[in-house]
Amino acid sequence: MADFLMALPKAELHLHLEGSVEPETLHELDPATPVEEFRALYTYADFDAFLKAFAAVGKLLRTPEDYALVTHRLLERLAAQNVRYAEIIVAAGVVLWKGQDFGPIFDAIRKASQGSAVEVRWILDAVRQFGVEAAMQVAELAAERTGQGVVAYGIGGSEQRGPAEWFTEVFAFAKRAGLRLTAHAGESMGPESVWAALELGAERIGHGITSARDPKLLDHLRAHDIPLEICITSNLVTGVVKQLDQHPIRTLYDAGVPIVLNSDDPGMFRCSLTDEYRLAARAFGFSEAELRSIAQNGFRYAFRAVT
Ligand SMILES: [Zn+2]
Repeated sequence: MADFLMALPKAELHLHLEGSVEPETLHELDPATPVEEFRALYTYADFDAFLKAFAAVGKLLRTPEDYALVTHRLLERLAAQNVRYAEIIVAAGVVLWKGQDFGPIFDAIRKASQGSAVEVRWILDAVRQFGVEAAMQVAELAAERTGQGVVAYGIGGSEQRGPAEWFTEVFAFAKRAGLRLTAHAGESMGPESVWAALELGAERIGHGITSARDPKLLDHLRAHDIPLEICITSNLVTGVVKQLDQHPIRTLYDAGVPIVLNSDDPGMFRCSLTDEYRLAARAFGFSEAELRSIAQNGFRYAFRAVT
């Protein structure tokens, strides 16, 4: 199985740049803080504690060079796993929240990705709980960069404190600008949050795991060919799923809902995409043939223009 998973060409469709930063790299960026402190930062009492840690990592990325460094590190790890294609989510909403200029940061990460064995596209992500105006600013940044590898716009963060209904106009704007649409939903809230994201026009759902509780929603996702971006380790570490055997990946897959496997925040969760495939095999009995079809979904549901 290890050789099979290594040889399998893989794609990452749900992968946050900031969440990919390992504690050792944070220590490199901020040598005054012991690495143990950063390791402790990467333990989460609950989902909100994870969101706070994510923002703390964002604050430690101070310059375009810092962003370029973490992009390099991420792409090296992806290439070593035979990940051929990645849509990397950049928390542009956090960059603006820090009061930074997004342009030089994006130019730096884009440059850092050139020459990598991994084909890269970018998704700019707004933070739900920061509100509509901030989300629109991110959509504008994304719209300006559709010719520079930005393929999609998304929202993440707290479903509770930033309901999907707020973002109707923002998603309509992003769509008109030629961006593809995704939303984190059904992660820390129930299926109603996934329905609300679909109402916005989301073409893929980040997590969407609580869809498993709603047979009508499962039918809808299958009938409309809308994939769920599943990240098993993430759900356990942030506590939205309490224990491994309660994860609904098998239910979703068996219901015929398209799924893709992803690492989400590999630095912050100490996981990798290959590990997620291994976990799916070990804990949920996915066969090699099933894992191959899931890996193919990573390319099939990519937002890049088909070449
Ligand atoms: Zn995510």
